[in-house]
Amino acid sequence: EEQTLSIIKPDAVGDNHIGAIVARFEEAGLKVVALKMLQLTRAQAEGFYAEHEGRPFFPSLVEFMMSGPVCVQVLQGDNAIVRNRELMGATNPEEAEAGTIRADFATAVSANAVHGSDSPESAAREIDYFFNSQEIY
Ligand code: ATP
Ligand code: MG
Repeated sequence: EEQTLSIIKPDAVGDNHIGAIVARFEEAGLKVVALKMLQLTRAQAEGFYAEHEGRPFFPSLVEFMMSGPVCVQVLQGDNAIVRNRELMGATNPEEAEAGTIRADFATAVSANAVHGSDSPESAAREIDYFFNSQEIY
C-alpha cells in the first residue's frame, strides 16, 4: 500500500479543525500510520518547500508555515497520494470543489489548511523529513 505525507497547516490547527480533517482521511479509507504536532523552525519550513525557493510567494509561505503548530501525518492506502490530493481539493480554495477539505476549511491560497505530497518521490522525501521508521506504524 502507498504512503503519503499530510500536513494540517497552522490556520486549520488554530481554527480547531484537526479532528474534522483527520476524519475526512479515515472516512475515505486512508489509514493514519504516523501523527505528531510540531512548530516548524525557519530552516525546517524553507527546507520542506525548497522546490518553491525564488517564487514570489516563498517568503510569506515560510512565515505562514512557521506561524503556529502543524499536525503532520503519514496516510496509507491504495493510491494514497492521488486520493489525498483529491480529498484536499485545489490549491486555491476559491477553485476547490465543494466537499473538499480546502473548500470547507481553507480561507485563502496562502492559508489553505493542508499540504499533501504530489508524487511518489516527494512522498518518500517528505515522510523521511518528519518521521523515522520507528514512528510509522
Ligand atoms: P502544498 O504543496 O502546500 O500541498 P499545492 O501542492 O497544492 O500545496 P504548490 O504549488 O506546491 O501547491 O504550492 C505550495 C503552497 O504555496 C500552496 O499550498 C500555497 O499555500 C502557496 N502558494 C502557491 N501558489 C501561491 C500563490 N500564487 N500565492 C500565494 N501562495 C501560493
Ligand atoms: Mg505542493
